[in-house]
Amino acid sequence: MIEEIFKQSACELLEFIEQSPTAAHAAGQVEARLLQAGFRKCAEQDAWLVKAGDRMMVKRQESGIIAIKMGKKPPLESGFKIIGAHTDSPGFRLKPHALMLKGGYQQLGVEVYGGPLLATWLDRDLGMAGQVVIKDKQDNLCTMLLKMKKPVLRISMLPIHLNREVNDQGLVLNKQEHLAPILGIAGESPDKKCLENLLARELGVEVDRLVDWELGLFDLQQGTLAGLEDEFIISGRIDNLAMCQAALAAFLKSEAGVATQVIVLYDNEEIGSTSANGAGSSFLRDVLTRLVAAGGQKAEDFFRTLARSFFISADGAHAVHPNYIDKYEKEHHCHLNQGPVIKINAMKKYATTAESSAVFILLCQKATVPFQKFVNRTDMAGGSTIGPTVAAGLGIPTVDVGNAMLSMHSIREMSGTIDHLHMIKVFKEFFKD
Ligand code: ZN
Repeated sequence: MIEEIFKQSACELLEFIEQSPTAAHAAGQVEARLLQAGFRKCAEQDAWLVKAGDRMMVKRQESGIIAIKMGKKPPLESGFKIIGAHTDSPGFRLKPHALMLKGGYQQLGVEVYGGPLLATWLDRDLGMAGQVVIKDKQDNLCTMLLKMKKPVLRISMLPIHLNREVNDQGLVLNKQEHLAPILGIAGESPDKKCLENLLARELGVEVDRLVDWELGLFDLQQGTLAGLEDEFIISGRIDNLAMCQAALAAFLKSEAGVATQVIVLYDNEEIGSTSANGAGSSFLRDVLTRLVAAGGQKAEDFFRTLARSFFISADGAHAVHPNYIDKYEKEHHCHLNQGPVIKINAMKKYATTAESSAVFILLCQKATVPFQKFVNRTDMAGGSTIGPTVAAGLGIPTVDVGNAMLSMHSIREMSGTIDHLHMIKVFKEFFKD
C-alpha cells in the first residue's frame, strides 16, 4: 500500500502542473506561492538592499524565476545552496501569421518547440495558452497570461484506410505539412480576425488593444494518479514541472539556515538554454553577484563565495521500459518509486562528478531515501540538461539528478508517486545546515 502522504504530495504536483500550461504560467505560479509565503519581489532594474534572513525573488521576463532565502551568515562565509530546474516543456508554438484556410477548414500554423514525441499530440483535446501583450490608452504595454479552458484545437490523424502501412512502418510526420491543428470550419466568408477575436474574448479586452502574443498548445486532459495502487503519476509536463514543484515545496518548507538557499527555474532548456533567462544566460550569475555585492563585499568575495557553493540540477531521468529493455544499460536500470536518480555521463552531458555524487548520496542517506544511478548504453547518445551549462558558467560543484519516468517528452508522461515526496525530502535535507 502506498501511504496517503505520498499520494498527497503527488496530487500537489498535479495541481501545479494543471495551473501551468506554459513556462510563463509555471513561473507565475511559483511567484504567486512565494508572495503568499511573504517573499518580496525584487526588480532587476532597482537597487537591492539585502540583509541576513531576507526572503526575496527575482523574475527575468515572464518565464524565469529565482527565489532566495538569505542565510544567517553572509554568503561569503557559508556559500550558496542552489537547486535548479526548468520551466519549459516540448510542444508547439503558433506562427506569427498563424491563421490559414485549407480544405474548407480554418487552421493554425505551428512551429515545433524542442523535441516533443509528435505522434502523441494527435487526436488530443488541445487548448491554447501563453502570453498576450496588450496596450492601454496611453500605449503602455502589459503582458497577460492566457489559458483557454476549452479544446479549441485538434491535430487529426489520417485514417488507417489511407495509410495502411502505419502500424508496421511507423507514423512519419512532416512538421510543416502534417501538424497544423484545425480551429474550425471556414464557411462561405471566413473571419480573417477569428484568432484575434478569440484572444480578445478570452482575455476580456477590446481586440484593438492586442499588440502581439506568444502562444502554445497544451493538452486539456487533467493529470491523474494511476496503476493498481495509485503508484503512478500520469500527466503532461512532468519533465520538468515535477522538479520545479519539488524544489519549490522543499524551499518553502525549509527553515532559514546558516547558508543562503536559492532555487533557480530557467526557461528554454528544451531548445538548448540559450536565451535571456535560460541556463546559458547571465541570470543566476547576475543575481548571485548582486547578493554578494549588496552585503558590501568586494569583487574577490564573489569568487570566494562561489567556491563554497553547490548546485543540484534536477530534471527528468529515464526509467527502464519493459517493452524496450534493450534500449537501457543493463547494469543501470532505473525504476519508478525506487528513489532519486543520479545521472552520470563520461562525455559530461551530465555535470555529476564523484564528489558531487557523493554529496547527493549522503543527503539521500540522511533523509533515508533510496537512490539509483543512471548511465546510457555506451552506443547511445542520450540527452542532457541544465547541469553542465550551469557548472561551466559558474564553476561550482554540480550534480545532475531527477526522478525516473517513462514516456519522456510525450504529451502525457508517467512517473512514480513515491518518488516525488522522496525527492522533496532530499532537497529539504540539502537546505538543512
Ligand atoms: Zn527536462
